[in-house]
Amino acid sequence: MQIYIDGNFYPKEEAKVSVFDHGFLYGDGVFEGIRGYSGRIFRLGEHLDRLYDSAKTIDLKIPITKEEMTAAIIETCKRNNLKDAYIRPIVSRGVGDLGLDPRKCSKACVVIMAVEWGAMYGDLYEKGLKAITVSVRRNPAEALPPNVKSLNYLNNILAKIEANCKGGDEAIFFDTNGYVSEGSGDNIFVVKNGVIITPPTLNNLRGITRMVAIEIANSLGFSVVERNMGYYDLYCADEVFVTGTAAEVAPITWIDGRDIGTGKPGPVTRQCMEQFKNVVQKEGTQ
Ligand code: PLP
Repeated sequence: MQIYIDGNFYPKEEAKVSVFDHGFLYGDGVFEGIRGYSGRIFRLGEHLDRLYDSAKTIDLKIPITKEEMTAAIIETCKRNNLKDAYIRPIVSRGVGDLGLDPRKCSKACVVIMAVEWGAMYGDLYEKGLKAITVSVRRNPAEALPPNVKSLNYLNNILAKIEANCKGGDEAIFFDTNGYVSEGSGDNIFVVKNGVIITPPTLNNLRGITRMVAIEIANSLGFSVVERNMGYYDLYCADEVFVTGTAAEVAPITWIDGRDIGTGKPGPVTRQCMEQFKNVVQKEGTQ
């Protein structure tokens, strides 16, 4: 495995960053999760736009241009001979002292890792995932905005721990106003009476797969509404599904002990899952 660090490639065993990097010390940095399908990178431009926007929000200057980042990502996939890949670019604040001050970090550090990757949830795409609504809240937009994909995922990890403890495959976050936000690593959709509903993106990550799912749903003739929802909307949904780069489109068939709809992946979810497979095979940067 070859890993890109600041312009050079290193074998896995030699790929190292400093313990003084503020990404390690404070989670000070940003990242992306990107997929490759059949040797093509899916929605690379959108992922890089989000990476650079996340960096801008935390005032982190990425030392290479988007074009250079694109070339580095393609080269990383080539060197690792990847067809179906999960690609992880990371930009950390870089080496500083033990204080918080980012001005002491002279240069951001860029790392790109890429591994072969299959279906994250295995047979759960057929059975459906169990989800738990968790007590930990998604960080509000007036704190670190949820649209920043930062290196600090502790909130999401706490959510996952809570879901795991209660027998769930995935966590569902609410925001501090009590509205449904998203999963620990994916966006959420509800289907009710043939209409697809998803929360607006102020209280969750503006998912790229979310956008793809909306495009797919529209192309299948469904209307998609963005509105706030409470737990009533989840429990009484006909269908619930989540979307994410890693999760793709995955059905949720059980929430907090309640079957959702029939307790099996529903027809709208199935159509979106099927069409998603077609879309990812058709598009992509070579
Ligand atoms: N929400 C969170 C918290 C995530 O970490 C992710 C994964 O990136 C998503 C949603 C889904 O976003 P995307 O579809 O861009 O991968």
